[in-house]
Amino acid sequence: MDWQKIDRRITRSRFPQIKAIEDFDFGFQPAINRQEIVSYHDLAFLDKHENLIFIGSPGVGKTHLAISLGIAACQQGKRALFINCHELLLRLHIAYEKDQLERAIRRYARYELLIIDEVGYLPISHDEANLLFQLINARYEQNSTIITSNSDLSGWVEIFQNPTVTGAILDRLVHHAHVIKITGKSYRLKETK
Ligand code: ADP
Ligand code: MG
Repeated sequence: MDWQKIDRRITRSRFPQIKAIEDFDFGFQPAINRQEIVSYHDLAFLDKHENLIFIGSPGVGKTHLAISLGIAACQQGKRALFINCHELLLRLHIAYEKDQLERAIRRYARYELLIIDEVGYLPISHDEANLLFQLINARYEQNSTIITSNSDLSGWVEIFQNPTVTGAILDRLVHHAHVIKITGKSYRLKETK
C-alpha cells in the first residue's frame, strides 16, 4: 500500500493525536510488559478477532497505546475508527431517534478495529447501555475492539447502572480478550512535581 493510501486511512480513523509505540517510555511504566505490548503491534489479535482492554487511572498511557495500535492497523491497510465512548453513545442515540439505529450499528460493526476510548468516565444510562450492547454484540467474534477505561471491569456495573446489560457486554468483550492493567503513575504529572 502506498503512503497516500495509508495517510488517508489514518485521517479517516480520526485519531485525536498521532502516537507511536517508539515514543512510549516503558521505563516510566514498569508494570507494563513491554514485550507483550510491542507484540500486539503485529496485529495478530485483529485476525483472531480478539479485543484489547486497557485499564488504568488517568495519564498512564492507555490512549497512547490504543492510538499506536490503531495507526499500526492503518499501516497494514485495515479500516479503523477511534471514538470517545460518550460521543459513540450520542451518535447511536441520534441514529435511534432517526430510526436509523440498525444502519449505524452495521456501519460501526464493519470497522476492522474500533477503539472506544474512555469507557466509564461518565455514567452510562440504561438506554445507552442497551445501545452499546447492540454494537458490541454485532462486533463479537467478527472484528476487534480496543477499550480504554479508568475503571476496573468489576466497577463497570456502577458505571452502567444496569447489571444485566453490563454482564452481557462484558461477557462478549472479555470472551476473546487481553486485559492490560496499567498500575503506574501519570505521565502527565511527570514534570509537575
Ligand atoms: P490515558 O489515556 O491513560 O489517560 P494518555 O495515553 O493520554 O493517558 O497519556 C497522557 C500523555 O502522556 C499523552 O501525551 C501520552 O503520549 C503521554 N504518555 C503517557 N505515558 C507515556 C509513556 N510511558 N511514555 C511516553 N509518553 C507517555
Ligand atoms: Mg485517555
